[in-house]
Amino acid sequence: MDVDSSKKCCSFCGEQGQTGKPLVGGLGAFMCGDCVDYYKGMLDAVRDTGVVAPPPWETMSDADVLGKLSLITQTGDQVDAFLVEWVQLARSRKLSWAEVGKALGISRQAAWERFARSEVPAADAPDRQLGSA
Ligand SMILES: [Zn+2]
Repeated sequence: MDVDSSKKCCSFCGEQGQTGKPLVGGLGAFMCGDCVDYYKGMLDAVRDTGVVAPPPWETMSDADVLGKLSLITQTGDQVDAFLVEWVQLARSRKLSWAEVGKALGISRQAAWERFARSEVPAADAPDRQLGSA
């Protein structure tokens, strides 16, 4: 699994990660230090005052909103890549396509069709052929 921050982006602001400047997170979502500080302050303020600040998009210009679209796509791509990495992890543990499919709420065949191309080939993989579990 790739843990190099320079290949990831903050899921909250879109900032590209940098080597030596880690992003924190999990399950495909990552957060930069600036966003950790910002959102911690926001949560602290809610705890202290009980007042929830309006979401940031309410004060954005149309250009700002349009500028976020590519960042949202980038975050979606990152989540998709994270899912592939986790399926590869499951497969490296010899979990079957049926188990992967069940966990994702899809059929064994649908899991295989979606993820088998990204699987690192293993000569001894027992179910590399469609139809075996
Ligand atoms: Zn950020």
